[in-house]
Amino acid sequence: MSGAVPPLPTRGDAVLTNLRLVDGVDPEPQDGLAIVVRDGVVEALVPAAEVSGEALDLGGAHVMPGLINMHTHFSLSLPGAGGDAVSALDPHELALYMADGARRTLLSGVTTVRCVAEKSGADFALRRAIEAGHVPGPRIFTAGKALCCTGGHGHDADDTLECDGADAFARGVRSQVKAGADLIKLMISGGIAGENEQITTPQLTRDEMAAAISTAHAWGRKVTAHAGPAAIIAEAVELGLDCVEHGYELTPAVAQLMAEHGVALVPTLVVTRAGAFFDDLGVPRWMQERSLNAGLRHLESYRHALDAGVEVLLGSDMPPFWDFEGTSAVVRELEHMQAGGLAASDVIRAATAGPARWLDADDRVGTIQPGRFADLIAMPDDPTAGMAALRGIHFVMKGGVVVRDDERLAR
Ligand SMILES: [Zn+2]
Repeated sequence: MSGAVPPLPTRGDAVLTNLRLVDGVDPEPQDGLAIVVRDGVVEALVPAAEVSGEALDLGGAHVMPGLINMHTHFSLSLPGAGGDAVSALDPHELALYMADGARRTLLSGVTTVRCVAEKSGADFALRRAIEAGHVPGPRIFTAGKALCCTGGHGHDADDTLECDGADAFARGVRSQVKAGADLIKLMISGGIAGENEQITTPQLTRDEMAAAISTAHAWGRKVTAHAGPAAIIAEAVELGLDCVEHGYELTPAVAQLMAEHGVALVPTLVVTRAGAFFDDLGVPRWMQERSLNAGLRHLESYRHALDAGVEVLLGSDMPPFWDFEGTSAVVRELEHMQAGGLAASDVIRAATAGPARWLDADDRVGTIQPGRFADLIAMPDDPTAGMAALRGIHFVMKGGVVVRDDERLAR
C-alpha cells in the first residue's frame, strides 16, 4: 500500500448518460446523446445506445456548459463592516479567504470567472493554486488590479492602482501585464461605492484612456471599463474599448455605437437590486440609496443595449455563490437578464459561449463540444424554458472531475 496523497485532480475521464443536452450551440435540448470525456476534455458526443461499460447516469437531468461569470471579485470589500473585515485581512489570510470564495463559486455552477479588480496580486497566486490542484476553484481570467485616477472609483482599496496622466496609465497597464493579467480593467467614471463621486462623474481624460487602451492592445490584452454615463462610454468606445461594465446610463445612440464597434456589455443588473446583500455586509445608507435609486435607469439602459443589438454577457459583481433572494447571486442575475428582455436561450449564450468568445477561449470553454473542457452543470428543469431552472443546479463538473453531485451525496 502507498501513503501518497495526490493533489486534487484537475482532469478526469467520464461517460455521462441519461441526460438532455443543452450544448450552448443548439437553442433546443437534444435527447439520446451521451458525453464521453477523456483527460478532462469532451472527446465525443455519441448515441447513448452505443455506450457500454461504466457510465454516470444523470437521471434525465438537463446538462449545459458551466457558467462563465465575467464580473467577479474574490477580494471584494464594499464600504461597511463586512468590507472592512476583508480589507483588514493580512496577505496570507486574504489568499485563504479568496480560495474559499473560489471553491464556493465553482460549487455554485460557475466554472470560469473573469476577475475585474483583485487585491495585492493574490488572484495570480490563486490562479496558479487552482491550476495545480492545490485548491478547488473555477478557471480564472484576471485583470489584476484595476487602474483608476487619484481618488477615482475604488481608489480606497488595494484592488486598484492610482495613475495620473497618459504615461502613468501606460505604466499601469504594463505593470499588470507583467504580473500576469489576461485583460485590463479601467475605472473611467464614478460608481455606486465611492463616497466622493457620483455615478455620472467622468474620471479619465481622453489621453489617459487612449494610452491605456493602445498599450493593452499592443500587448494583446483586451480592455474593459467600469462605466456609468453615456458620454464617457462613447469616448472610450471610439478609442477602442472592448467591453463596458454596468453601463448604468446608456442612451440609444451610445448603445448603437457600442453595437457598431462590437463592444460587449456586462450589465451586472443585481448591483442596483441588492438591498439584502448590502444589509448582510452592513453597507452604509448613502450607498444603498445610490444603488437602489439607480435601478430603474440601469434597467432602461440594459433595454437600450438589447434593442441596439449589443452583445450582453453574464456578470454578477456580487460573489456568485452568495445566498440571495432564495437562490445564488449568479442565478438571480440570470433571472434579471431574462426578465429585462433577453430570451432564455440568449441568456444561456450570454452565460457560456458569449463570454468564452470575448475571452478568446471558445476553443476550450463555453460549449459542450468535442475538444472543449468538460466543464458542465446539471439541473432537473429545462434552462431553455427559463432561468429559474438554474435554481435547481445539483451537479457540477470541471475538466471531467465531478466537484458537486447532490443526488448521489443524498443517497
Ligand atoms: Zn465590480
